[in-house]
Amino acid sequence: MAQEIPYKIFLNENELPKQWYNVRADMKNKPAPLLNPATMKPMVYDDLRPVFCDELVKQELDDTTPFFDIPEEILEFYKMYRPSPLVRAYCLEKKLNTPAKIYYKFEGNNTSGSHKLNSAIAQAYYAKQQGLKGVTTETGAGQWGTALSMACSYFELDCKVFMVKCSYEQKPFRREVMRTYGANVTPSPSETTEVGRRILAAHPGTTGSLGCAISEAVEVATHTPGNRYVLGSVLSQVLLHQTIIGLETKTAMDKYGIVPDIIIGCAGGGSNLGGLVSPFMGEKLRGERDYRIIAVEPASCPSFTRGKFAYDFCDTGMVCPLAKMYTLGSNFIPSANHAGGLRYHGMSSILSQLYHDGLMEARAVEQTSVFEAAETFARVEGILPAPESSHAIRAAIDEAIKCRETGEAKTILFGLTGTGYFDMLAYEKYNNGTMGDQFPTDEELEASFAALPKMPEGL
Ligand SMILES: *Cc1c(COP(=O)(O)O)cnc(C)c1O
Repeated sequence: MAQEIPYKIFLNENELPKQWYNVRADMKNKPAPLLNPATMKPMVYDDLRPVFCDELVKQELDDTTPFFDIPEEILEFYKMYRPSPLVRAYCLEKKLNTPAKIYYKFEGNNTSGSHKLNSAIAQAYYAKQQGLKGVTTETGAGQWGTALSMACSYFELDCKVFMVKCSYEQKPFRREVMRTYGANVTPSPSETTEVGRRILAAHPGTTGSLGCAISEAVEVATHTPGNRYVLGSVLSQVLLHQTIIGLETKTAMDKYGIVPDIIIGCAGGGSNLGGLVSPFMGEKLRGERDYRIIAVEPASCPSFTRGKFAYDFCDTGMVCPLAKMYTLGSNFIPSANHAGGLRYHGMSSILSQLYHDGLMEARAVEQTSVFEAAETFARVEGILPAPESSHAIRAAIDEAIKCRETGEAKTILFGLTGTGYFDMLAYEKYNNGTMGDQFPTDEELEASFAALPKMPEGL
């Protein structure tokens, strides 16, 4: 029997999205504004200009414009690796013996190996447009640093990356990809910045965290003429660029009359999930259609499921603006789990507001069950998934198994954010049976919440 829906649904070049979609325009309850920690007043354009590129500040602060044109140069770059395929997971469905119809949008088909390139190229473009010399950033697992290095080499910008020290040591191959693309990579915390020296003095021997690396990158950007800081997740501008994922998915599904019942994504800072669900969430917000939307996070870093919805610092050094978000506290250092991209203490303020308003769900999953799902997926679908992406696979498989039990033929869509070739040490632990599951205790979380900034009444 001929299959109606192909294994891979591609779009033609003329079907590619030409605008990003700003879901904030359709939100009744807007995400809370970023605050200046010195004055506790909302950040305005001029406050953010020393840190971020001008155009990106405008995108960051814009809660009302529904669509932003994607500049021609970015569209051209996108054409090198987009559209990304939307895959019908026929083999996984068969393996699970489920009546569910499973689809995934695969973002791993570029050298950086993840969706992060979608925003990296946009941020590099705007820096170049403004006549800047270079950008600085942090990277944890290394995906963002890799993507930014590629984007900067394309536009001939300097790229300085502070890489969390333990990753710098454990992931030499990621580091070398970045250097191959011309980036300067420094293990963080380092002696090269004031904040780095301060953190090292307070915590000698620390192997670093994303929060520390952000502080160092911001310091260098604001002290080096012609440089700005860029961030690979959490910010609303990043989520905006990542809507390319959801817009392509929506176009492809509409072409075949497919309507997902459940949409699933892993959530670190929220950019891939936000980007995937934005067009669907827009329909939901406008009352046109309903979808179940599920964020999946590691049980070891459970921002949504165990965090507080509060204003917090975005970085350990407390040099960044305050954001209202689901957070575990800026001092929270998750135990050594292997999904480096999901180790951030906070969450996109857009997704935080949507979750707070009951428009999406969240669940936390344990590491070993995530790798079990990764293994099942790799063996039948052929792609070796990133540990981060495998959180979404876990939830998709669980939903498909529920369908097997109830006999419902639900349509499940999930985001497969990247490949796991640089994560083989983690796979090795799993294969050797030495991987464990760790969670923060309530006491640990309470200690971390106690350090949340004290806010004026009502914020
Ligand atoms: C960074 C990363 C994530 C998590 O980041 P989000 O901003 O939450 O999307 C997920 N998967 C991969 C492969 C990543 O590199």
